[in-house]
Amino acid sequence: MKTELPFTLMIKPAGSACNMRCAYCYYIDNPSGGHTFMSEETLEKVIRDYCESSPGPVLSFVWHGGEPTLIGLDFYRKAMQFQKEYLPEGYECWNNLQSNGLAFRHFH
Ligand code: SF4
Repeated sequence: MKTELPFTLMIKPAGSACNMRCAYCYYIDNPSGGHTFMSEETLEKVIRDYCESSPGPVLSFVWHGGEPTLIGLDFYRKAMQFQKEYLPEGYECWNNLQSNGLAFRHFH
């Protein structure tokens, strides 16, 4: 079912997993933060549901952490594949990724 207003979708595919331990981080002492990586099945469902529910014409994905690149490049290749598959005709898709920059040597 489509919503009336467009909205941005923030996704934390690596949960609160991070390769830094900033003193000010609100995740460090949060036992409920979890380090479970998002499955491909969940990724497909999230993208499909967003594509089906947004009124468009812009879909805005924000990949957030923890450190979202820890999940690996193949995860984002799949995400792009699902976006191409489910994006409605005439819609535009944006991707923004927040990173601490340290994980890029693993990401490429
Ligand atoms: S880089 Fe971000 S998520 Fe990682 S420890 Fe620092 S504040 Fe927390």
